[in-house]
Amino acid sequence: MLGRDHALSGAVAMAALAPVLHVTQAHLAAAVVLTAGAGVLPDIDHPDSTIARSFGFLTEWFAWVVDRLSGGHRHGTHSLLGIAVFTAGAYGAGLYQLSEPKSLAAGHLEFSWHIVPATVILALLYSSALRALKIGGHYADLIGIAGALVTCFTGADLTLLTAGSWHLPLLAVATALGCAAHIAGDELTHGGCPLFWPVSMHEFHLLPRPMQITTAKLCETWVVFPFLLVGLAAAVWHATGHPLSVPRPAK
Ligand SMILES: [Zn+2]
Repeated sequence: MLGRDHALSGAVAMAALAPVLHVTQAHLAAAVVLTAGAGVLPDIDHPDSTIARSFGFLTEWFAWVVDRLSGGHRHGTHSLLGIAVFTAGAYGAGLYQLSEPKSLAAGHLEFSWHIVPATVILALLYSSALRALKIGGHYADLIGIAGALVTCFTGADLTLLTAGSWHLPLLAVATALGCAAHIAGDELTHGGCPLFWPVSMHEFHLLPRPMQITTAKLCETWVVFPFLLVGLAAAVWHATGHPLSVPRPAK
């Protein structure tokens, strides 16, 4: 799947689940864009991917390292273990940020090393979402860094989302959801994903072979992309408190 459609699938997943996760309207835009960024995160195992090129040689070098560690493209980062590692990284960055209470005091803009890991992850996710969706052009990275600083200094990335009896910070939920959406997207293609890597290399598919899609071909352009756009519009409409169906007139 193309980076654009991976980012959109992450955005759709977050917008659709926002009411269930109790995402407030104030945090909806950040949550949707961060999940769009996490939607391209598993492709950090490929030096030519959108996300690998987001911060030049820094992210290209990181992608090279991930490629080696994860057994090559579409292996470790496209597995359940990969989702767990990315989510643990985002969660750990949040814990480190929280361990310096001063960094969360309202209006406190002093630099602290405790916000660095979270800011780096946020900047990476914001800018790769913008790049994948072709928003912001050459300024996508700058907008991503500015968005990351605002999100970190307001503590929005640590906002707890509720799913049943679970309470997890927004950044960790966005990361997990985006990665899961990415893997589901790749499972629609001929390649499939080795969910149980490194235990098993069996590649899982969501569709039978004749229905599997080929990246960047007609089906992705004319079916998957429009479907995701309509899905995103409907999910955001619903998440902002509007009904999806026309209410029946009372008798
Ligand atoms: Zn992929």
